[in-house]
Parts: sequence; structure tokens; C-alpha cells
Amino acid sequence: MSVRVRIAPSPTGDPHVGTAYVALFNYVFAKKHGGRFILRIEDTDRARSTAESEAAILRALRWVGLSWDEGPDIGGPCGPYRQSERGAMYKTEVAKLVESGAAYRCFCTAERLERMRAAAKGKSFVGYDGLCRGLARAESERRAAAGEAFVVRLAMPKTGQTVVADRLRGEVRFDNTQIDDQILLKSDGFPTYHLANVVDDHRMGITHVIRAEEWLTSTPKHVELYRAFDWPAPEWIHLPLLRNADKSKIAKRKNPVSLDYYRAAGFLPEALLNYLGTMGWSIAGDREKFTLAEMIEAFTFDRMSLGGPVFDLVKLAAMNADYLRALDDDDVVSRLRQWRLGDDYLRRLVPLVRQRVQRMDEFVPMTEYFFSGDLDYAALAQDLVPGNRTAKDVADCLLGLVEALDGERDFSPAALEAATRAFAEKVAWEAKELFMVVRMAATARKATPPLFETLAVLGRDVVRRRLRLCGEYLKRLR
Ligand code: GLU
Repeated sequence: MSVRVRIAPSPTGDPHVGTAYVALFNYVFAKKHGGRFILRIEDTDRARSTAESEAAILRALRWVGLSWDEGPDIGGPCGPYRQSERGAMYKTEVAKLVESGAAYRCFCTAERLERMRAAAKGKSFVGYDGLCRGLARAESERRAAAGEAFVVRLAMPKTGQTVVADRLRGEVRFDNTQIDDQILLKSDGFPTYHLANVVDDHRMGITHVIRAEEWLTSTPKHVELYRAFDWPAPEWIHLPLLRNADKSKIAKRKNPVSLDYYRAAGFLPEALLNYLGTMGWSIAGDREKFTLAEMIEAFTFDRMSLGGPVFDLVKLAAMNADYLRALDDDDVVSRLRQWRLGDDYLRRLVPLVRQRVQRMDEFVPMTEYFFSGDLDYAALAQDLVPGNRTAKDVADCLLGLVEALDGERDFSPAALEAATRAFAEKVAWEAKELFMVVRMAATARKATPPLFETLAVLGRDVVRRRLRLCGEYLKRLR
């Protein structure tokens, strides 16, 4: 049996560093065994999925140096590779389960489910109470034919345990009394993650599901789904989550998690990939530096450990330094060009500053913050806090704005201005006053080219990082 593995990102946001981590282990495992690595887009959440996010994920994975054998951009024998284009398959498959009785139509209204939950308040586990599970087949058919809205639920076993055999963890047991009759098909006819994921893994011939630990609690449902379909299940391998030094899960609120940030911050993709390869895995003893080819050569899951690997920016920077030093000068020049000293980026800066300089030698000092990493706010502490505000007010405002801008898909100057004005209104700040604080947070200067053009060029990830760091700096001020 030849190995087929996949990553299945949902295109609902920035390309996440965790996606690159999971992709790396899938890729390496596939290459080790002469198998195929597949990229599938799980865009069943129609409200949150975007084409830009999908493009950004593909671009970022290519940037770190990974490639796939089948995917939405290159096709392959099991396409389409976007779930939104596979709707008919899910309906066909789920109909088989309703037919066999392994799944059932549930006609309960949102109000009824609400009352059910309220009545069960205080219980440790509140799942669907099974009202429609007992409906006679003919009755269910009749109500569906009469046009009544329904979802389809999996009839989970109600006693005993479901066992997930995980390659890294051994047998993980789940009490069936604690597992809900999972919705498979929503009332709009779209599949849920669980249904689409299992149907696709089966139809795409996936032999090993290598994914992040956070999906482990979904796996018993998937195990039961495979059983209900009477399909052979793949092997399960749940990778340990990347963590902060304090062991909390890495998350946007604390660290930069977007691959685009790492690119903008001047990390070399091969250094990042090597570092991700040390997350939970070791090549030999305490050796940390290795190439992708060496990782493939040595790869086995036996060298993976479960103690939450810490994704540490300081260690990553040290690894990056090693890689940077090993490049020859010409290489460094070409990397710098690819980073920010190339035509593309300079072309975006020039219109912002050309009217403001008399001589070209002013250009570099004037644009310094377009090339630097984290900024220092100490010299601005006084200016950052207007007389009528406290440092905490300003900090809360900046951190609130970070959240508000996160929801903003469009990072153009006009969209940024509209979002920032709307936020100012919401928190009852003068727009001008807020703009000044944002300018200082994003650039550590009081005078810059037009603010929103500047933010647009800096880009979402750098702006988010700087506003957050400035907010945190102000919080520490007394
Ligand atoms: N769509 C899921 C995600 O966004 C896929 C999880 C899985 O690999 O099964 O990560």
C-alpha cells in the first residue's frame, strides 16, 4: 500500500505557522516512504472562507519550501481538491448512512435545542437528547418530503468506549456517553467538517492522518464514521501542539503566528523549516541543525516525543543566525533583495517619500522603520499618552484596535482608514488623536507619510505586531 497523506487547511485567515509544522511532518513522512503529499482546502465554512486566504496559505507553504503532489492549484487524480466543489459527494455518501440507519434526520428546531440545553444546565455533558433518533423511517421520509428542515446526525453508540489507536499515544479511549450525535449534514445541505473530512480522506485514499493534537477529540467521531461507512480507517497520528514557554498554546493574541510575519521579519525559510523539524522531533541526540533531505533520510515517528514543544522566537532567531552566517555574500545579497531591498518593495515606498526629500541620501533614514523589526517606544512615552488619558487607556485602545483590524480582510489604505475611524467612534476617541497614537505605535515616529498608506505598505503582520508591542509597553508603564 503506498503512503498518501494530506494537510487540509481551512482558508479562514492568515497562513498559520502550525500549518507549516503539520505540513512538514506530512511531507517528510510521504517522501520517506515514496508516497504522495496532498493539499486539500477545507472551505465548508462558507461565511469565513476566502480565496485570498487560500492563496496566502499556498504562497506561504511554497515560501517555506514545501510542495505537494496533488492540490487545488495543480489538480490530481482525486480532485477537486476544494471541498466547496465536492458537495454532491457528501450528499451521496450521507444518504447511504441514513439508508442503513447509521445516521438519522433530526428535525428539531433551534428553539427546541435551546430548551433542551437549558433544561440540562449544570450537567457535565450536554449532547443531543436523541428525540429524532427514535423516529420511524416512514415518518422521517414523510417529513423530509413535506419540506421540513432537517440536519443529519450520526447515531453514535450510547454505551461502551470508542478507541482511537494513535501512533504516538497508543490507545486513547473515549466514553461514548460523552460523545454527541454529531451533525454530519447541516440544514442548508452543506456537510460539517467531520463528514467532509472523512469522506474526502476515504475518497482520496489517505493512509495516514497526520494532524494537530487539537483534533484528537474529534477522532472518535471519525472512527465511528469509518465504521458506519464500513470503510477501512487510516492510521491516526496526532502531533503535539506548538506551545509558548509557559506551555500555553501558541496563539495570535500572544505571538505572531502568521507565516507572513516570519517572512516579513527576515527569517530564512530553510531556518524556519529546520526549527519546525525540531518541534517534538529529534534527528539524533541533541543535534538541532539539519536539512530537509537529512530529515527525510532519518525520519521515523519513533523519534517524536509528546511533551509540548516550545516554539521559541529567541531560539528560532539563533537558528536563523546560523543559516544566515553560512550563506556566502552573494547569497545574502540575493536574499536581501527577495526580502525588502528588491524592486517590488522599494517601488511601494518611493511614492510615499519622494516628495519629502531633497536628496537621495535622506531616503534611507526617512524610511528606516519600513525595514526594521520591533520598535523601541521609550523615547515616545510622553507623546504616546495624551494629557487627558492614562497609559492604560491608550494601551487598551491599541489592543482593541488590533482585534478590530484582525476582522478586516482588506488591508488597503481606504479600508484601514474606515476601520480605524469606526473604531475611534466606538471607543469615543477623536479620530485625529487615535491616528497619532497609531502612527507612533506603527513607526515610532511622530511624522510619517500618510498614515494609512504607510500601514498598508508595512502590512498586516508587522502592523499587528507593533501595535500589540506598543500596547504591551504602555501597560508596563506606571
Ligand atoms: N480543516 C482542518 C484544519 O483546519 C483539518 C483538520 C484535519 O487535518 O483533519 O486544520
